[in-house]
Parts: sequence; C-alpha cells; structure tokens
Amino acid sequence: MLIKAVKGREVPSKGLPMDVGVVVQNVGTALAVYEAVRFGKPLIERVVTVTGNGIKEPKNMMVRIGTLMSDVIEQCGGLGDGAVKVISGGPMMGFAQWTLDVPVVKGTSGILVLAEDEYVSSDQYSACIRCGSCIDVCPMGLNPSILSIYSEKGFYEDAKANNLFDCFECGSCAYVCPAKRPMVQFIRLAKSQVKP
Ligand code: SF4
Ligand code: SF4
Repeated sequence: MLIKAVKGREVPSKGLPMDVGVVVQNVGTALAVYEAVRFGKPLIERVVTVTGNGIKEPKNMMVRIGTLMSDVIEQCGGLGDGAVKVISGGPMMGFAQWTLDVPVVKGTSGILVLAEDEYVSSDQYSACIRCGSCIDVCPMGLNPSILSIYSEKGFYEDAKANNLFDCFECGSCAYVCPAKRPMVQFIRLAKSQVKP
C-alpha cells in the first residue's frame, strides 16, 4: 500500500517489493542498520511498546534482546486484574503467547496485554452472515469470506485459486467481521497446506 502511494508502483502478485526496485524498512530497522554500519554495533536491544488495558503501567522501553517477556511486564507494574491475553506484536498481526517465559527477539515490536472487555475468544465465532464488510476493507481486493470458508472446510486448493497468497495478513477483515470469524488464522492454515 505504501509503495503504491509513495512511488506509484504495484508489487506483482506473489512478488516482493524488490521486484519493483523498492525496500521498505521501519524506523527501528533503519536505525539498526545505521548503527551496525556506522558503529559496528550489533542488534542487542530494541524499543518495545508495552500497552493494552491489561497492563498496569503501559510504556515504551529500550529492552535488551533475550530479556524474558515476564521481566518486561514486571517492569510495567505487572498484569492488571482483568488481563486475559498477551500478544507479541501489534493488535492486527501479533501472536498470542502461551507463556511469558519467552525472550524478546529482534521482531518483538510490542507486547499487548488485552483485558476482558477487549478480547473475543477464537472459539466464539459463528458462520459468515454475508455482510460483505471484509470485502469492503481488504486492501488487496480479496474475498476474505470465501477464503476463510474454503479453509474451514479443508478446500485449500480452492482458496489458492482465489488468490490466497496475495493476502498479507493485515487482519483488517477479522477486525470488522461481525461474526468474529478468525479469518487470518484460517488463511494462515490454508497457506500452510498448499504450495504458493
Ligand atoms: S488479512 Fe488478508 S484477506 Fe484479510 S483484509 Fe488483510 S489482506 Fe485482505
Ligand atoms: S465480515 Fe464476516 S460475516 Fe461479513 S462477509 Fe466477511 S466473513 Fe462474512
């Protein structure tokens, strides 16, 4: 989306930004490259955003790679009473954690602690009601509804034929879905079952 807006170039289906002569880096990566090249400093730390209604003292911290997630949370006052889920990464593309005994790694941009009022269990979803909201918001022009249904039924090749691999897992479709369908999980499942 950024490449199209800034450079007017479109990354081809199944392609990468470099196919149109572009590299996209976030600010943290750009700084890390500068420090590595200019000062020979390896990536030993990064800024981690700790937030969500389930954390007592949300803050941004410079954290050494390898620090336990439980120690980072403790530095933020610990988990609040209503904390129900800890996500590594952001709200749209992050991964739920089974344990806090995992280290901060170079890709840990944030730790999001969801409270009860922010959380819908992944087994609380229902059948698609054909509202079309997911189609309206998909930045890739896909039909997330049909992709999720094909994956749910095990029709992975059909999902592939409907441009499964053009999905970059932004999570917009799951965010707007009134049936709370875990679209990204379905799409990831389908991608793991067929070759691009
Ligand atoms: S997760 Fe994939 S299918 Fe859903 S809106 Fe984003 S690009 Fe489209
Ligand atoms: S947003 Fe959810 S309910 Fe609506 S069409 Fe998409 S999958 Fe179906």
